[in-house]
This record gives sequence, C-alpha cells and structure tokens, in this order.
Amino acid sequence: MTVEIHRQSRRGFLRTMAMALPVAVMAPGVVSASAPRIAPIVDLRFIANFMPVRRRHEWTSIPPNPARLRFALPNRYSRITVHHTGTDVVTATSESAVIRCMDGVLGGHLNRNFGDVGYHFMIDYAGRVWEGRSLAYWGAHVSGKNEQNIGIVLLGNYERQRPSRAQLQSMEQLVHLTRHYYGIRRGEIYGHIDLGQTLCPGKYLYPRVQRLNQLA
Ligand SMILES: [Zn+2]
Repeated sequence: MTVEIHRQSRRGFLRTMAMALPVAVMAPGVVSASAPRIAPIVDLRFIANFMPVRRRHEWTSIPPNPARLRFALPNRYSRITVHHTGTDVVTATSESAVIRCMDGVLGGHLNRNFGDVGYHFMIDYAGRVWEGRSLAYWGAHVSGKNEQNIGIVLLGNYERQRPSRAQLQSMEQLVHLTRHYYGIRRGEIYGHIDLGQTLCPGKYLYPRVQRLNQLA
C-alpha cells in the first residue's frame, strides 16, 4: 500500500485526499464538520400544530443529493417568495394526480442538476401543503437570491387559471406561520416577479401575494 501511495503523482494524491474528506469540510455554508450527508429532519411542528403538512417522504422516494445542496444558517430566513409552476393548468385534487405533478417538478429540477426540488413548500389545488426541499437547505427558486429565502410554489399556471379558495387560504396560513416563526418582517413577502425577469407567479396570483404584506 505504502509503495502505491508513493507511486501516485502529487496531483493524484491530492485528488485522493480531496475525495476522502467529508463533504461538510469542503462545502461552504455548512454548520459543522460532522454534519450528516442526508437531509436532517427539520421540526415542522410550528406549521403542523396549526395545519396539516405532508412530509417529503410521503410523496417521493427519490432522495435529495446533499452534495448539490447548501446548508441554511439555522433560523436565518428573512423573506418568502411565492411562485407558480407555470406550465400546465392544474386543477387536479386527487392525491395521486398531485403527486404525479410534484414528481414532474422534482424531475425537472433534478435534470437541471439541482440537489432537490427547488421550493421548500408546494400547495395543490385542494389546498394541501406538501414539504419540498428541507428547510435545512437554502432553496433554489430565485436566481442569485436564494439565501434566507423560503420558496413556496402553487401547482398550476396562474397566468391562465385562478387559484382556488382553499389554495389561497393555505398560502395565507403557511406564510403567516413561517413569517412569525422566523421573524420575517412585513414587506418581505415577494412574488418571483419582484425579484427576477419572469411573469411568475402569474397575474391571477400575484395580487394575492402582494396582499400578504398587509396582513399582521
Ligand atoms: Zn417563480
């Protein structure tokens, strides 16, 4: 063994050493050198005590890829951005149809080399709230502005459809709970259109997002 190591080029040796290092040592933004490689479970009781929230494992068995994720600084979320998925109109309410839809979103994001679905929460047409990417990680939903930014997506295209009453109620409640839990100030609730070149979250949803900043 010793002989083989000596025979390695310096570059090869460094590469071997780099591969042997735990990811937590190499990746910026991690909380500790012993950070686990799988998504830590984030306590969502601050939501679940008030409204049902389906955990990520309840809709997908595809694990996130932690090597492509960045740990969030604990309790440091300072804004919320609301999106729509923005392709098809979605009015399906059955769990199986909703899960197929979320699978499509996840698959699209994994194809773009994201470590997981980009949003922290998804809300379906029936008003169910589903956990997306763990809040343990910064999201991937606003180019260049993902740090400290909680991503919520409503499934559907709100340039072409109106959100359901149940969806709006869930959005309002979810934003209220997360805002107060993280101490996010009024005025820090955005539609994607406020932060990037996009129509997202669509003309039928955006005014309802703006209104969230008026609520206590
Ligand atoms: Zn968006």
